[in-house]
Amino acid sequence: MNVPVFKLSHVAGVSVSDEDLIADLRRVAGELGKNSVANKQYEKLGRYSSITQSKRFGNWNEALRRAGLEISNRFNIPDEELFENLLTLWQHFGRQPRRREVDSSPSTISQGPYNRRFGSWMNALKAFVDYANGASAELAEHQVEVPVGGQHKTPREPSLRLRWLVLQRDNFKCCACGASPAITLGIELHVDHTYPWEKGGETVLWNLQTLCSKCNLGKSNLLPA
Ligand SMILES: [Zn+2]
Repeated sequence: MNVPVFKLSHVAGVSVSDEDLIADLRRVAGELGKNSVANKQYEKLGRYSSITQSKRFGNWNEALRRAGLEISNRFNIPDEELFENLLTLWQHFGRQPRRREVDSSPSTISQGPYNRRFGSWMNALKAFVDYANGASAELAEHQVEVPVGGQHKTPREPSLRLRWLVLQRDNFKCCACGASPAITLGIELHVDHTYPWEKGGETVLWNLQTLCSKCNLGKSNLLPA
């Protein structure tokens, strides 16, 4: 099937069946390789407008449900997953995310679950910061010297709390070039091992740094100068 470059719903007099709308949602999910579609993603890849979908079925989540897809506004999401999504947003924007920003990419969870769990967006942010800062016990455990024998004492992937501490310490800026997504949206920040993990570097606060994706690629596993 050829995908037209215009949105069919914008063409006057053209009516679209429910089946067509549902089929197109499924097609986009298939293209994304996911079992859910954010309405922003659908705007890019869909044949119709996401507003057409929402209006036809009452709202976006209902359109997803009718298409047999998962909705992001689901119940009983563990706190850890809610916080992980908040850190993703904080890292993406290089600053505290705004309420409406949780409803679009790169967020995978909508406002609903945050409001249900914490009562409000501000309370959700407070709960996240409290959780992320409650790191003393975990960090004490991981504050170990680099062992001589090359055996790791820490896991390769830093925990949410450790990533938060590193990003905060570095003011959400690349330690090498100073790039910040708060100034240039689209700058992608990574938490990187200063002394490479492959060479025995541990996943501890002092051995982690914030790098943008460009500087991180340039660095690979080279030892620090
Ligand atoms: Zn950089």
